[in-house]
Amino acid sequence: MRLTQIKLAGFKSFVDPVSFHVPGQLVGVVGPNGCGKSNIMDATRWVLGESKASELRGESMHDVIFNGSGNRKPAARASVELVFDNNDSRVAGQWSQYAEIAVKRVLTRDGGSSYYINNQQVRRRDVQDIFMGTGLGPRAYAIIGQGMIARIIEAKPEELRVFLEEAAGVSKYKERRRETENR
Ligand code: ATP
Ligand code: MG
Repeated sequence: MRLTQIKLAGFKSFVDPVSFHVPGQLVGVVGPNGCGKSNIMDATRWVLGESKASELRGESMHDVIFNGSGNRKPAARASVELVFDNNDSRVAGQWSQYAEIAVKRVLTRDGGSSYYINNQQVRRRDVQDIFMGTGLGPRAYAIIGQGMIARIIEAKPEELRVFLEEAAGVSKYKERRRETENR
């Protein structure tokens, strides 16, 4: 499973629809201060289900919607889509047959947030489900933001265990067990 495209529209500084091609396994984003590099990382975590505004460097979730500039009106909605190559069928279950998996999240100013997988509306947890145990998620280690290395080095043993369990693929089963026990 590999991320191949990131499509943004109305998300933070990316007001006009833009599509970034991710050309390889290891990709660097370079550019002057304030050009939107970190906004791309925020977009990636947001579409995967991040629900805490402060994790996206905002005060409220609406802060992810383009809020206008000198000559541009604020956008009515923010949308982010990630396209994954799934030729290795790493995404299991009902989506395993698809060679490409597109995960999208849309937020409108009236607060409506919706998620889609291959243009089919799904729940937030469906999105989280397909990535659980793959190392990719709003707070998972596949996205290494500023300060994350320090966070791992300074983590308490029980916090470190969460990273290790995700890497080993056990977190998925632990979550299932927790849900069953709470029923
Ligand atoms: P640095 O190299 O300093 O880390 P960067 O490339 O990571 O910079 P970002 O933090 O991604 O830059 O982008 C910051 C820019 O995004 C700022 O100019 C900020 O005004 C703009 N921005 C953030 N949220 C919004 C929003 N909701 N609407 C419009 N612009 C926004
Ligand atoms: Mg930055």
